Amino acid sequence: MSDKVFLKDDKVNLWLGFKEDGSCHKIKYDLGVHLLNYAYLDIESISEAMDKMIDMSFHEKEKDEEINDLMICIFEQCAYLIYPIVGFKGQIDMIQKDPNCFGDEVLDVSKVLDGDLKDTTDLPLFEMDDNGELSLSEAKNTVEELMKNNLQELFKNPFSLRTLMELQKNIYIVDLKKKTSALLNDLEFVSKASNREDNKLLSSMQRLYVLDTVRKQGGDEAYYTNNQFKTKYIPLSEVDDSYKSPTEIAGFVYGQEIEVVEMYDVDGIDSLVRFEMLKLIDSNTRINRCKHCDRLFIPKGRIDKEYCDRIMKGETKPCSSIGATKIYQNKVSDDLIFEAYNKAYKRNNSRVRNKKMSQEEFFSWSEEARVKRAECYEGKISLEEFKTWLESNKKFVK
Ligand SMILES: [Zn+2]
Repeated sequence: MSDKVFLKDDKVNLWLGFKEDGSCHKIKYDLGVHLLNYAYLDIESISEAMDKMIDMSFHEKEKDEEINDLMICIFEQCAYLIYPIVGFKGQIDMIQKDPNCFGDEVLDVSKVLDGDLKDTTDLPLFEMDDNGELSLSEAKNTVEELMKNNLQELFKNPFSLRTLMELQKNIYIVDLKKKTSALLNDLEFVSKASNREDNKLLSSMQRLYVLDTVRKQGGDEAYYTNNQFKTKYIPLSEVDDSYKSPTEIAGFVYGQEIEVVEMYDVDGIDSLVRFEMLKLIDSNTRINRCKHCDRLFIPKGRIDKEYCDRIMKGETKPCSSIGATKIYQNKVSDDLIFEAYNKAYKRNNSRVRNKKMSQEEFFSWSEEARVKRAECYEGKISLEEFKTWLESNKKFVK
């Protein structure tokens, strides 16, 4: 049993728990969508959902059903989260159900705190309970304290179980924060919608190469360009293996329209990020920057779309509909600017005909008026200021 991912018709197909007989859980989504969802993951809401999972694990009735519903909501935000969230669910179950396994679990927590998070001084505080906050260094002390004590005694105390579950959660959250912000940096570097000047002339694949080279110079491993995938060509539907001769097999493959795709083995978020980033760049998928929320997005339909479909925190409508209103308002005000200019132009033009204004005066006026009009279009001066300026030019009247 393994997890596979492949690309077909610009859709990412994630097959979880793939068995030789072809059975598995299938997820399908547009290329790049969950990569961007992951980069902009709302960690706070994930953290809250994980807290709820902990709460629910203490419910006696229907807890599995409730937790499953909650997990599905989390996966809808980002399919990648299947890995940490399923892992976390397994750990809270283990903490609760099998106290004898718990020693290893504590050691695991302590190991992670010791290793990856050695320097805890700069880390933010984490909420540990309703009464206050506990920093990671304090959390580490708590684990050490717990380890010194008789674990069997501690299992009887629900607060201790909860504390350890929360510690586990915090380890996942710290990891998610680190990984999602790293991915966002990478996307900003690689994307053509990037504001960077230094790699403007490069293709996205060249940018990715630059990114990994910078990584290597810094003593790290190349993350994307050092291909670590194991791939296999697998038919998309079940194959009847009772056919033996080439003619029979060919007839079957033709008749059933058997398609064979290159499937990649995946074992967690890192391999999914690698796979999707490489496919995204390789397919030259257009990435735009939203003019409202400033986030990168993959336009659906028109490739020159300026606004994304996200509903940002504090908004009730997606950026695209906020943007549409903005464009309409701009258009209306553009029309008003032109109208005001046109009215003044006609007025002065008739003054020239009536000899109330010289030709030279009219030329210099219209030259200046066009500069002012451009300033007004750009929003440097308001429509009212522009109108006042146009009115003040009555001084040209002889
Ligand atoms: Zn947006």
